[in-house]
Amino acid sequence: MKHTKIVDVLQSDQRSQSVTIKGWVRSFRNDRFIAVNDGSTIHTIQCVIADGIVSETTQQQITVGASVHIKGILVESEGKGQRVEIQVSELTVEGLSDPEELKRTILSPKRHSLEKLREQAHLRIRTNTFGAIMRVRSKLSFAVHQYFQKNDFYYVHTPIITGSDAEGAGESFKVTNLALNDIPKTEENTVDHSKDFFGRETNLTVSGQLEGETYAMGLGSIYTFGPTFRAENSNTSRHLSEFWMIEPEVAFNDLDDNMDLAEDFIKYVVQYALDNCADDLEFLEHRLQQEDKQKPQAERAEMSLRDKLSFIVDNNFKRVSYTEAIDILKNSKPNKKKKFKYIIEEWGADLQSEHERYLVEKHFKCPVILFDYPAKIKAFYMRLNEDGKTVRAMDILFPGIGEIVGGSQREERLDVLKEKMAALDIPEEELWWYLDTRRFGTCTHSGFGLGFERLVLFVTGMSNIRDVIPYPRTPMNAEF
Ligand code: ATP
Ligand code: MN
Repeated sequence: MKHTKIVDVLQSDQRSQSVTIKGWVRSFRNDRFIAVNDGSTIHTIQCVIADGIVSETTQQQITVGASVHIKGILVESEGKGQRVEIQVSELTVEGLSDPEELKRTILSPKRHSLEKLREQAHLRIRTNTFGAIMRVRSKLSFAVHQYFQKNDFYYVHTPIITGSDAEGAGESFKVTNLALNDIPKTEENTVDHSKDFFGRETNLTVSGQLEGETYAMGLGSIYTFGPTFRAENSNTSRHLSEFWMIEPEVAFNDLDDNMDLAEDFIKYVVQYALDNCADDLEFLEHRLQQEDKQKPQAERAEMSLRDKLSFIVDNNFKRVSYTEAIDILKNSKPNKKKKFKYIIEEWGADLQSEHERYLVEKHFKCPVILFDYPAKIKAFYMRLNEDGKTVRAMDILFPGIGEIVGGSQREERLDVLKEKMAALDIPEEELWWYLDTRRFGTCTHSGFGLGFERLVLFVTGMSNIRDVIPYPRTPMNAEF
């Protein structure tokens, strides 16, 4: 039987027509009113059963969580809260949902904490909150592709299993098919990877950048959008062990072009969400307002969710050099009163999330792009400035999130690049292919990485990154 998505039924102007919907029962009141949701929208449709329409047996099977097929006539609703409803003419229950068993799940009709929902990540998608988040996530990922495709970038699938670990030393997951209880050893008693599947040591990728650069050197403008893995033991609300990263790389772009691209891109996808996820954002905004009511006045949000998103789109990101930022931080109240966990003493200090958030939330009160960082605290491939001590790096810092983007202009000069690698003990043999790009037609180029989940976190207004990906992977947790 063909059926119509509830999102379309709710928008339909065709009264007195027959429609068929399929979905899951959210509630059943007074043996008469069923609220059904099918995932196509945050809204449920009310279906009204007149006396004698369904059998006693079927009536008893209409329970929360059950899947149903409903055929009926679309009419104006007399009840509050909806424009239209369905007068049921036929109803079948496809999948039962035992109310007794349901009690142990988060589908039972009462308030459950987000922590509890995480433990039942396989069922949480049936809640309003997760329906809204995951629809927004899907729309945003489409917007990412749309932005780049419209701007003539090519989508490149960089490898997930890599032989290079130049960047994430120690932070990567090993890939092997050696028997863990019988690992072949070399004469020096190290693991003999020549007997391993690939005949060498391999890892899950921590970034597609280096391979992305090689493709930008032929295709001009490219982007990647794929899973990334980091074995860093940071149990924070902003780190996952498996996350999705978007990494554009553009030949002939310098750092200013790179900042322009990142700002334009973020504004585009945020605007896309405002335009295409109105109902879900309204729901999430309301949810936040409810949550805020539990908090003391000082901790409540200054702007509503959608105002916050519009603010991002309508205002320029503030561009500030690392050196200026250090001055601001050194003279800041929390620094002088020793309220920061890490006190900023001098130029060269790595910025912690508390500093980033101070700059964005307290000082500038808007997104900030920090650039020209000390070479010492940044990766080897970033372009060295004329001062010999800073590199053409940029990080974008967002309110409530901290770092959302990390990028740079890349070092295109072979000799400088080799010197930096030598200083950091990165063997040239490992990156011979990367160095080749600097040997044959090297050019100015830049790119950045944006953690997709941090973007979804920002747009949905959620506070824990574990709640914006279907099945979060974090230290000591890989259930499902
Ligand atoms: P952080 O300092 O927050 O750990 P990073 O400096 O390690 O981030 P990069 O290596 O520059 O981050 O990665 C680029 C982007 O990827 C970051 O700006 C962030 O948006 C995202 N990102 C990095 N690590 C994680 C993670 N563990 N979980 C989710 N997103 C991440
Ligand atoms: Mn990190």
